[in-house]
Amino acid sequence: MNGDCVFCRILDGELPAHFVYKDEKVAVIRDINPQAPTHLLVIPREHISSADQVEDPSLWSVLMGTATKVARDLGLVEDGYRVVVNCGDRAGQTVHHLHVHLLSGRFFQWPPG
Ligand code: AMP
Ligand code: ZN
Repeated sequence: MNGDCVFCRILDGELPAHFVYKDEKVAVIRDINPQAPTHLLVIPREHISSADQVEDPSLWSVLMGTATKVARDLGLVEDGYRVVVNCGDRAGQTVHHLHVHLLSGRFFQWPPG
């Protein structure tokens, strides 16, 4: 738990969020500033500042497994979805607690901006 971290404070129940899924390792919340009709964040409970700081690669299996499970459970598969991780300021990372974006419900262009 990092008291200066908005996601740690959400996971600790100190700040409000709309939770879609929770277990002992990970939680999924709705993004406060959605960039698609469905925009979720898959967040590990452990405070890890970025993708580059992941020491146990099995965490990726937990994060991606959760993203695909939630996508199935919410019926997003037929429409399609995009999974994004921003690592570092120049890649667009603004919250320095690892998270996976799950976006769905509109047409996505490639390459991303
Ligand atoms: P990134 O820019 O990849 O670090 O993504 C951070 C995401 O967290 C952004 O999409 C923000 O809109 C979202 N965000 C920031 N604060 C909150 C919050 N309190 N609750 C939900 N989402 C948030
Ligand atoms: Zn944190």
